[in-house]
Amino acid sequence: MSSLSSSAKNSIRGTYGARCVISLTRTPTAKCTDIIDVAQRRNAAVKLGILPPDYDRNTAGNGLLRCPTCHEYFTRKYLALSLPIPVLEYIRDYVRDTEKASQKALYEPGLIPISPDHQALKEKCYWRLSIPAAHIFAALIERIKDDKSESEGIALANDILALLRVAHRNLHPPRKRDGTGGSNNGGETSGGSKLRACDESGG
Ligand SMILES: [Zn+2]
Repeated sequence: MSSLSSSAKNSIRGTYGARCVISLTRTPTAKCTDIIDVAQRRNAAVKLGILPPDYDRNTAGNGLLRCPTCHEYFTRKYLALSLPIPVLEYIRDYVRDTEKASQKALYEPGLIPISPDHQALKEKCYWRLSIPAAHIFAALIERIKDDKSESEGIALANDILALLRVAHRNLHPPRKRDGTGGSNNGGETSGGSKLRACDESGG
């Protein structure tokens, strides 16, 4: 069920007219659908810094229009939205190479500085949706979980996800399960910095 309010839906229809964002077909039966459709997915993406902590699923930025055919393909998981390869490469390089202290969360860098004149963008059939790249990426990582395909886009998305998970784990090391909490028998300390326990409840 959609979490989009009727005013969010009106705004989405205003943005796209009656055009499906996938096939670009114009049809009065195009449906407003959520990009992030489950609270759990939203929370997982917030945890990794892909979406902002106040990400509201009930806003126009969380929706797009799909014609009934594309909607059906989406529901059956034959289709997924992705970002252009140069954008995925930019995100991967940013997450991998930016010094951790100055690295922003994925939703913070704002517009990704890829020129429309970039050769790769000229050669391929990309079109721009009026949705932040982070939202598309958050939906994409859900979809690729069980995908073993070796396409370049999926490989890049998996690389980014792995880097974000490592960064998250470094910031929030998992709590020890033995419950002794704190007795550190000769193990390495992290230079006096406090270890924050990670809330795994997904809040
Ligand atoms: Zn369509």
